[in-house]
Order: sequence, then structure tokens, then C-alpha cells
Amino acid sequence: MNIELPPIPSLFSRNVAVIGAGAAGLVAARELRLEGHKVVIFEREIRVGGTWVYNPATESDPIGVDPSRAVVSSSLYKSLRTNLPREVMGYRAYPFVASNKPSRDSRRYPGHREVLDYLTDFATEFGISDLVRFGTEVSYVGQVEDGKWNVKSRTGRENMDEIYDAVVICNGHYTEPRSADITGIEAWPGKQIHSHNYRVPEPYRGQVVVLIGSAASAVDISRDIAGVAKEVHIACRSLGNENPGKIAAHDNMWLHPMIKSVHEDGFVVFEDGTRVLADIILHCTGYKFHFPFLHTNGKVTVDDNRVGPLYKHVFPPSLAPWLSYVGLPWKVVPLPQFELQSKWISGVLSGRILLPANEEMMADIEAFYRGMEESGIPKRYTHNMANSQFEYNDWVAKQCGCPPSEEWRKQMYALASKNKNNRPESYRNEWDDDHLIPLAHEDFIMYGVFAHNS
Ligand code: FAD
Repeated sequence: MNIELPPIPSLFSRNVAVIGAGAAGLVAARELRLEGHKVVIFEREIRVGGTWVYNPATESDPIGVDPSRAVVSSSLYKSLRTNLPREVMGYRAYPFVASNKPSRDSRRYPGHREVLDYLTDFATEFGISDLVRFGTEVSYVGQVEDGKWNVKSRTGRENMDEIYDAVVICNGHYTEPRSADITGIEAWPGKQIHSHNYRVPEPYRGQVVVLIGSAASAVDISRDIAGVAKEVHIACRSLGNENPGKIAAHDNMWLHPMIKSVHEDGFVVFEDGTRVLADIILHCTGYKFHFPFLHTNGKVTVDDNRVGPLYKHVFPPSLAPWLSYVGLPWKVVPLPQFELQSKWISGVLSGRILLPANEEMMADIEAFYRGMEESGIPKRYTHNMANSQFEYNDWVAKQCGCPPSEEWRKQMYALASKNKNNRPESYRNEWDDDHLIPLAHEDFIMYGVFAHNS
């Protein structure tokens, strides 16, 4: 059993609405409650877990542009295993240790069901499930005159209209597809699908597929469909160290530069002039931040996937601390970062942690944007933390009076990333960082939380 920490004495207890019961919303609720706040979590699905609730259903518009389509939250495919080792991936206060229960998946890179079970255990262990209003979609969040927040929601046919002191947005960012713009696509006769609507390889049997993208899901899905497709052609914006041409480990997979154009006769032409007659274009091109319920009179906007202005990716200065976001950064280890952001928000809301003055926060944001511009980093990479996540986490930890990220976690992440690049076909089954696992487990025992799954 876990040892629950006594609540931290809080200066002010707030009524807080948390939107979403995924990995971010669950830990936000836990931290808010530990700090003495009252919490309601709104979740449109019928269970906790967000992305990790596999749904075999797909959306009516496979490319995901029709605004009237019924939205399916999760983007998981059936074969998905984690792309991080479990020691790195879990929350700090509730490590993702292997269970010895027969129904569980004890692999170091487990299948998606194991992550859902872990998040469900977390919610049960800390009594978070009791805070969730399931099947309840938030349709409107807007500020009222005294600075509080009006939250409108719908559960079946029942509408609710309530006032909260603060809103924490945890609605995830892997639901609203972003697709590639392709010259000639209106006349191209094939089918287009976004990876959000990819579940199993069977529909691709015997097909010639052009898959756009190079991130983790592009790698997984290309391997998944290569088992049944006639040909898989991967188009990448940046080829890195790789050369275009046949991929050695597969009989039917080729690497190409980006698509230049597509044509009425079904051909797809790549930037190096090579061409293939294709049946399907599969966009593994990522997602857009999307907050259809949020109304801030322009105080927070989404511009080319920059959510801003936000102080350290969490607080919009003019609405701080009453509106906050958990989980915007990408190319990170999400769960431990969610945990730290949640601690920060909880402490600021209770008055235990102070934020700088608005002008100071704005100056910090402007300096950050200027730095990006000077380095030629596009706006849409604002929340990409590939090279700065641990520095950022340690900064947030310091605000909260918490120790920085563990050395083993940083090293394990670095080695796991290298291993993924070197062994894209097998990194989940062979690795070179066994020496770090006992160090992780030593810390888990020290946190007093090693045995929660056993
Ligand atoms: P979500 O899990 O998306 O949860 C958001 C919740 O908000 C959902 O339950 C949704 O129903 C709810 N919601 C949204 N809008 C509303 C509304 N208006 N009203 C009420 N409820 C609402 N991370 C890892 O650590 N390891 C991995 O191996 C890994 N693999 C991944 C593979 C894929 C294909 C994807 C898409 C992501 C992967 N991730 C991985 C990242 C993953 O998204 C995070 O681990 C984490 O699940 C994100 O949690 P979240 O709470 O931010 O968002």
C-alpha cells in the first residue's frame, strides 16, 4: 500500500475545475487535493485514462477535418507498446513498476493496456476516481465579472452551469489531427487517413501506402502495415543521416524525401523526382492544440500551434493563476512533468508559492519568443521541449521546493532515446541501460511506494 502524505497546510482553499481525466487531469487533481483545494474533474468519456483507453472505433472522416464528425478521443493503435521504459515513464510519487499479477504486462516497454491499468490504479489508490464526473463534456469555459470562471457542461441531456475559482485545462493534445498540405490532392483518386484513425493493419492488406512522418507512431505504424501491405513508402521532411531508398530490414519498405505533388492518375511524386502509384496516403503528421470550449476574449490564443502567451507553458499572465494548463509540452516524458506542473499550480493557487508580477511574466515570455525567432525555430515548435525538458522540470521543481529529476531518469531517457534511434525495429526488446534499473528501484523504495502494484 502507498503511504499518503498528510495534506500540506494551505493558505487558501479554492474550488477548482479540472478538464480531462487523462494522465494530466488525474495527477492535477491529486496535487490540488493534497494542497487542500476542492476539485471536480470533468471527463467526457466513461472511464479515466484519456489517450490510454483504446477505442477500436474510428471517426467518420478518416482524415479528421470535418468539424461535424463525432470525435473519438484516443489515437491508440492496437499493437501499441510504450516508447519509453516504464521506470522513466511513471509519476515520481507512484512509479510504474511491474506487477506480479497474472493479468498484467510486466515488460519494460509494456502494451497500452498496462498503462491504462496503471493510471486506473493511481486514480483508485488516491481516491481520484470519486472526483470525476464521467460522461460529462465541458462545452464552455469563460470568465465572469469577479474573475471567477463559468463552466458549462453536459451529461447526457442534463446541462450544468457552475462557477469555479480556477480552471486547470488537461484536455490532451492528441485528438485534433494535423495533416500535410499536398499539391494536387483535390484531384488525387486515392484514400487519405490520419494516424489518429489508424487501429489495425488489416485494411491495408495488398495496398500501396505512402506514409508521411518520422515520429514514434510513424515508425510503429509503418512496421505494423508492412506485414500485410504490398508496399510501404515513407515520406519524411528530414531524412537525418538516412539515405532515400529501400529499408534494409524489410522487403517492401522504402524511404523518400517529402511528397512534391500528387496527380489525377494516382501517382505520388517525391521531391527527388521518384514516383509511386499509391492507393492510400497515411498522415502520421501530428496534432493541433484545440480548446473549443475556452473563451478568453483573445487573452490566450492558439497561433500556428503556439498556445500563448503562457508563462513557462502553464499560466497566461493576465489570467494567472486562475487559468492554467497541464501537459502542453511535447517531446518530453509526460507523466513526471505533469506531476511537477500540477504541484506548481496547486501551490500558487493556495498562495504558498508566488508568481512574479504580470509584467515580469510577460517579459519572460517575450524573451523566450525572441530567442526562438533569433535561432530560426518555427512558432509551431513553441512547446517542443526535446532539448530542454529536464532543465524545465528542475526549474518547476525548484519553484515547488521539490528535488530535481533523478540522475538515473535523465541518463535512462538519454540512453533509451539513443537505443530507439539505433534499433528502431527492436528497441523495446533489447537495450543497454540495465545498470540504471537498480538505481531507479532504490529510489522507488526510498519514496516508500515500491509495492503498490504487487
Ligand atoms: P489525454 O490522455 O488525451 O486526456 C485528456 C482527457 O480529456 C481525455 O480523457 C478526454 O476525453 C478529456 N476531454 C477532452 N476534452 C474534454 C471536454 N471538453 N470535456 C470533458 N473531457 C474532455 N506517453 C508516454 O509517456 N509514453 C508513451 O509510450 C506514449 N505513447 C504515446 C503514443 C500515442 C499514439 C499517443 C497519441 C500518445 C503517447 N504518449 C505517450 C503521450 C500521452 O498522450 C501521454 O502519456 C498522456 O496520456 C497524455 O495525457 P493527457 O491527460 O494530457 O491527455
